[in-house]
Amino acid sequence: MWINGRPVEAEGARQGNVHAPATGEVIRTVAFARAGEIDCAVRSAETAFLSWKETTALNRSRILGRFCDLLRKNQEPLARLISEEHGKSVSDAMGSMQRGIEVVEFAVGAPHLLKGAFSENVARDIDSHSVLHPLGVCAGITPFNFPAMVPLWMFPMALACGNTFVLKPSEKVPSASMRMAELLKEAGLPDGVLNVVHGDSETVDALIAHPGVRAISFVGSTPVARHIYAAAAQHGKRVQALGGAKNHAVIAPDADMEAAADALMSAAFGSAGQRCMAISAVVGIGAAGDSIVEAMTRKASRLTPADTGPLITSVQCERIRTLIDEGITQGAKLTLDGREWGAAGNSKGFYFGPTIFDRVTTEMSVYQKEIFGPVLVVLRTNSIEEAIGLVNRNPYGNGVAIFTQSGGVARRFENEIEAGMVGVNVAIPIPMAFFSFGGWKASLFGDLCMHGMEGVYFYTRRKTITSRWA
Ligand code: NAD
Repeated sequence: MWINGRPVEAEGARQGNVHAPATGEVIRTVAFARAGEIDCAVRSAETAFLSWKETTALNRSRILGRFCDLLRKNQEPLARLISEEHGKSVSDAMGSMQRGIEVVEFAVGAPHLLKGAFSENVARDIDSHSVLHPLGVCAGITPFNFPAMVPLWMFPMALACGNTFVLKPSEKVPSASMRMAELLKEAGLPDGVLNVVHGDSETVDALIAHPGVRAISFVGSTPVARHIYAAAAQHGKRVQALGGAKNHAVIAPDADMEAAADALMSAAFGSAGQRCMAISAVVGIGAAGDSIVEAMTRKASRLTPADTGPLITSVQCERIRTLIDEGITQGAKLTLDGREWGAAGNSKGFYFGPTIFDRVTTEMSVYQKEIFGPVLVVLRTNSIEEAIGLVNRNPYGNGVAIFTQSGGVARRFENEIEAGMVGVNVAIPIPMAFFSFGGWKASLFGDLCMHGMEGVYFYTRRKTITSRWA
C-alpha cells in the first residue's frame, strides 16, 4: 500500500496472485488491506485534507503540472509495467496512458475551472457569487483493463479540486498505481493527499462503509457498479459508478465497407476486446450485413497474438469458451473461431483468437452478455429505424457508432440513439479530457460522469453567497 507518502506492507493474511497474462506465470503477490489498514489510509487523507484544501488552486495545479511532466518522462517504463500485468502491448499501453495524461493536463486548469460565478446588483446593493468547495476524502475503485488511465480519470481531478484521495486499483494490476503515487510525491505532493490500498470486495466494502470517505468513484462491471451505487448511497456518500457495456456499430448500406471493417478490427479485437469502449456487436442494415461479415472475417483471420494480446485470466478464457458453445447451440453462425488459438510458442498464456458470430439474435446469450473478449456478434436489420430500435432496447448505453456516408442518416442516429458516447465513422468515440466520459442506462449509475466539467462538479460542492453592502 501507499499510505501517508510512503510504501507500507499490508499485514493481512489475505493476498492475491498477480499473473503475467502473456505467459500465465505468477509474477508477484499483492496483500489485501483489512479494515484497520483502510482506516489508516482514510485518516491519513483526512489529516492531509486540512492543509491541502487551504493550498491555493494555483499551487495545487503546479504540483499536478510537474506530475504531468513526470508521467510523460516515465510513460514508457509505466507502459511496460502495464503491459506485463495486463498483457496489452506496450504501444497500446502508451496510447491509453496518453489519454490519462490528457486528464492531468485538463486538471492543471484548476484555477480557471474553480473560478465560480459572480452577478453584480441582482437587487439594489446586492451581489451574488458562487464558489466551489472540495468534499474531503474521496475514494476511487478501478478495473483491471486500464491500470493507469482509469485511475487518472479520478484522482487528478479530485486533487485539483482540493480533495484528498484513497485509490483501490484492481488487484489484478496493482503496480501502476503505486508507481504513480511515487511520481506524485516526486512532483511535490504533500504526504497523505493520495493513498493507495489493495484488495478485493472486502477491502472495497470497508472503504465504502468508512465514515471519513465522502465520495466514491467506481469503474468496473455493471453488477458491481450497481452494488457500489446502492451501498455508497446507503452510507450517505456521493457516488458515480460506471459499469459495463455492449457497444454496437451500425453499418449502413452506403458505408465504406473496407474502412469500416478496418476500424472494427482494432475496436473489436484490440486489447483482446477488453476495453469498455470495444465494439462487441455489429448491426448490418440490408445488404451491408453480408459485406461487413465478409470483410471482417477476411481481415480478422489475419490477426496474430501480437495484434490482440492475451485475456486477463485463464478463467476468462474458459468463460468465453462456454459462451461460444452456447452461441453455436442457440443457432448463431460461427464465421471465425478463435478457440484454438494458443500463444505463439507459449501455450501457457491466456490467448484467445478473434471470433465472429453472424446471424445472431437478441435472445442469444452471446448478445445478451457482456463477453469482454475478442468476440464480435453480427445482427441484421432491414432499416435504420430497426437498427436504432435494436440498439436502444439493449440495457447498456456506453458507446455506439454508425458507419454511413449520409449526413441525414448520421444526424438522425445522433438524435435518437440512447448512449452516452456516439461515433460517426469513428468506432471508438472516446471523449477528450475536456468533455466528460460516461454512458447511459446500465453503463452509469449516478448523475455525473468522469472528467470534463462533470468531473469538477462531482468533486466539489457549490455554495452561493448573497451579500448586501450599501
Ligand atoms: P470488476 O467489476 O470485476 O472490478 C472492478 C473493481 O471492483 C476492482 O477494483 C475489484 O477489486 C472491485 N470489485 C470486484 N468485485 C467486487 C464486489 N463484489 N464488491 C466490491 N468491489 C468489487 O471489473 P473488472 O473485471 O476489473 O473490469 C472489467 C469491467 O469493467 C467490464 O465490465 C468493463 O466494461 C468495465 N469497464 C467500464 C468502463 C466504463 O467506462 N464504463 C471502463 C473500464 C472498464
